[in-house]
This record gives sequence, structure tokens and C-alpha cells, in this order.
Amino acid sequence: MEIHFHGACRTVTGSLHEIRAAGKVLLLDVGAFQGRREEARRINATFDFDIASVDAVVLSHAHADHCGNLPNLVKQGYAGPIFCTPATAAVTALMLVDAAKIQEEDAAYLNQKTEKSWQGEIVPLFTRQDAIDTIERFVPIAYRKPTEIAGAGSGLFVELRDAGHTLGSAAVRLTDTRTGKRLVFTGDVGRPNAPLLQNPDPFSEANAVISECTYGGKTHAPMSEIPALLAGVVNQTVNRGGVLMIPAFALGRTQVMVEILHQLRDRGAIPRNLPIYVDSPLATRLTDVHRKFYDLLDEETRRMLDPFDFPNLTYVGTPQESRELNARRDPFIVIAGSGMCESGRIVHHLKHHVHDPRSTLLLPGYQAANTLGRRLQDGEKLVWMLGDRIPVRCGVQTLQGLSAHADGGELIRYCKPLRGASVYLVHGEVPQAEAHAAALAAAGFGMATIATRGDVVAV
Ligand SMILES: [Zn+2]
Repeated sequence: MEIHFHGACRTVTGSLHEIRAAGKVLLLDVGAFQGRREEARRINATFDFDIASVDAVVLSHAHADHCGNLPNLVKQGYAGPIFCTPATAAVTALMLVDAAKIQEEDAAYLNQKTEKSWQGEIVPLFTRQDAIDTIERFVPIAYRKPTEIAGAGSGLFVELRDAGHTLGSAAVRLTDTRTGKRLVFTGDVGRPNAPLLQNPDPFSEANAVISECTYGGKTHAPMSEIPALLAGVVNQTVNRGGVLMIPAFALGRTQVMVEILHQLRDRGAIPRNLPIYVDSPLATRLTDVHRKFYDLLDEETRRMLDPFDFPNLTYVGTPQESRELNARRDPFIVIAGSGMCESGRIVHHLKHHVHDPRSTLLLPGYQAANTLGRRLQDGEKLVWMLGDRIPVRCGVQTLQGLSAHADGGELIRYCKPLRGASVYLVHGEVPQAEAHAAALAAAGFGMATIATRGDVVAV
């Protein structure tokens, strides 16, 4: 068995690993590289392997940095199966169609802007039709059901286990039954005891592990403090008569916020009559998928009769209904995308309320450099939004600890049954990867290798 590293090496984006075994070629994830537009286009447009040679793809989960370049692979000729869990298939279908729509709109906008320039016509990296062609290649397999892939008699089996990171997320184990070699790919690993999803279900035996290390060397704030912190922010804002704006990713973060607010309301920790709006059509559709895969939710969530519905919670539909919220004068909460305030409906809510000292912007976690969310988090007092400069007078707070990723210690506890395997670190910046390698060594693992793009290793 051989691993060829193609992506998410020394960075957290563009997950893509090629495995050669038993004369077959498999891909683990085909993620989009996210970053500056030109660099992202260049990296995503080409693959440094022969697409015609690929026998099967295994997808760990529905985040764009793991699945977002699949339509491009299919557009360039891949016609084989894409194995993933049924929930990942359902979620990824929505995510890819949404991403394709943004690609098409972006290209149309740039073409209009650069009509007379020398650059020529910009074509979207992939279209909605490419996304639909990709979705048709999904082959769902359930958790803990080893399945032969790459053709009957290949002797290559894949098993998926719940990674507790996002609905349907999986860690992957490949077994070559001819040689007995086993390889585990962690995908992204969630936090134990996090709201909404079940705990990560670890593998216990492997010869090699490809492990994420997003938060290597870091420790998250305890999850148990989050509901009280959130209630505090809600009540302060309501008492001032302001609006609470929560930018949130459509997948996972929105459903977690709704569940926690539901519990706070039931306990009387926040006003029972406070209107709460989820203002993101994609988040609304993804919430429906969570309802459909009820069995994958954790016990606490399943004990709630309907975790994603309660009085005064409204899923906002049309853009017109979204704009109508701007006329409201009483306190309310709005949860909207995008998670880093760069696009989506959160932007017009910010434009209407950041100047108001009674209102609060609650950023649920990490904001990437060069995003509007980061500028607000850093305390900028004047920001550009939808063509205007707006003074920032609202409260700006960050809710730490709601990460969908395990921290360094949690990840080591998750991998502990695999001590003795060779570890290859991916999906982490270099300082986090180095810290994680040192922590693994201290926990009794051998010295981990920080993978570099282009590396080939034998298992
Ligand atoms: Zn992820």
C-alpha cells in the first residue's frame, strides 16, 4: 500500500490523498483548496495524477475543503463511484449545488467587471450540472459495515466510523486483505460530548494513520460553559433593547446554536417570547437533513421532542422576508450565513445594526484573516459593507469552545488505540502539526511525519 499526498499538507484546506493498493488507485477526499482567488483557481483546476487511473473515491464528510473539488474531478472525466455515508451524500448534495451556484454567479460578476480587460472570459470552476453529475456518483455505505470497493474481488475493503464532526462525517479505514495492511484516515474529528452529534467512534487497529491536526497543541474552552455564556449575551442585548446577530456556518453551527437556544428557552434562562430567526435558505435545508437522520444525533438531542423547532423560532424564506426584519424595532436574534460575515444575509443585518450600541455581534469561533468577521473581531471601528462605510458601535463578542474539531489532547485520546501505527499529519498549519507531533511522541506514539505535498510513502 502506498500513500501519495496531494493536499491539506501543512495547511488546513484542500484535503486530497491518493492510495495505491492491490493494483488499484483510490482517493480519500477531493477537497477544494480555499484561499486567495487566483491561487485557489490554479490549485483546484488541475490534478497532479491521472484521473483515468482512479478506481474509487472515498469521501470523509461534506465540508468544502474535503468534498468541494469533486465536481471538477467529475467534469474532467472521473466516472467511478464516490463512497460516503448516506447522511454525507444528502448533505454534500446540497453543499455542492450551492457552491456551484456561487461559482456561476462569481464568474458572471467578474466577466461583467472585466469585460474589456485582456483576461478573457472567466468560466466557473464547475457548474450546477457538474455538481448534479457528481451527486449521481455517490454510493452510500453505512457506518461499521466493511464494504469491498474498486471492483468485486479487489480485496480492498473500506469501513466508515462516525467522526462526530458534522452530520454523516466519517473516519475511514482501508484494508488490503491480500497483504493484511490497514490504513486509517481520520478525516476531521469532532469534540467528545459536543452538542448535537454523537461522540467520535475510534478505530483500534491500523498499520498507518493519516491524521488531521487542526488544533494540535491547543486546548479548547470547556463545552459546559457555553450555554451560560450564550444566555448572558442574549440577556444583556435584550435588556438594552438591541438585536443579537450570530453569523454561523449553515452546516452544523446553525443547528447547534438552535439546539442550545431551544434548551435555554425551555429552562427560562432567556426570555420565552424572544423572536429568533434562522435566515439562511441553505441552513434551513440542512436542518431538514438533520431531522431526516435523527438516529445520528446524540442522546440529549433525541430526547428533545423536536430540537429544531419551538415557538418564536422562524426559518426565514425569501430575500424579501429577510429584508423585512430590518424594519423590526424590538429585540430579536438572527442566525445567518456566512460564518465569517463575508457574504450571505448576515451582511445586511450587520449593515443595519453594527452602528447601534444596543446590539451585539456574537462571533461563534475562529475568523480567518482578511474576512469582515476578523476585522470586526479585531475591533475595527469603521468597516466597508455593501458599498458603504459603517461605524461599529455594537458589542462584539466571541464564543469560544464551539469548535467542530477536537483539540490537541482530545485528538490524541481519540488516536490512542492506534499507538504503534506510523502517523502522517495533514490538515494543520506547521506550528500546530509540530506541536501535535511532539504531543504524540510524549503519548507513546513513534515520531509522526508532517506530510508534504508530493510525498510518497509505503505502508
Ligand atoms: Zn471538516
